[in-house]
Amino acid sequence: MFNDDELRVLNNIWRSPTPSKVVAFSWKLLWNRVPTKTNLALRGVQPNGGSLDCLHCLGKEESGAHLFLFCDFAGQVWNALFRWLGLVIVMPPNIFLLFDCFTGAAVNKKFWKGYALIWHAAIWMIWKSRNDIIFSNGVIDLEKVIDAIKLCSWRWGLSLHKIPVCLFYEWCWDPGLCLRR
Ligand SMILES: [Zn+2]
Repeated sequence: MFNDDELRVLNNIWRSPTPSKVVAFSWKLLWNRVPTKTNLALRGVQPNGGSLDCLHCLGKEESGAHLFLFCDFAGQVWNALFRWLGLVIVMPPNIFLLFDCFTGAAVNKKFWKGYALIWHAAIWMIWKSRNDIIFSNGVIDLEKVIDAIKLCSWRWGLSLHKIPVCLFYEWCWDPGLCLRR
């Protein structure tokens, strides 16, 4: 079902200072068990209005791979994060490889943990923003999602004591400064 590289990612996602409910969500995504419209339809659950369209893109089904990777909105989120981290990454063809690209850019163990943490925060916030829009009349707001990713990754890193202490503005300015300490 999974190849060796994918099995390694399924193991490695737990090795980051991220709340376990958040890692569990990423884990479900890698197993393709997140209740996207496509997955709900496969289980016989009709989404509101019957359309399987992604809320960001007309005519594109909301699958896990679409919503978290191929969707224009997801692409904008990942690219903003790459810019923030100063990474040059070509978008990979699946979510396993996206984790590898992120963590593969780490220069040491601290960076690895920080990058894995940010990857989880992005997955979590893409889903949260999708739910806010569908269930709470939220609006599509890239800046807000990016700010939320920066804030929760900083908070989780601090509270789980795996990332050196730094101030929030320092984290926003350059997470590498904090991870290098
Ligand atoms: Zn989309």
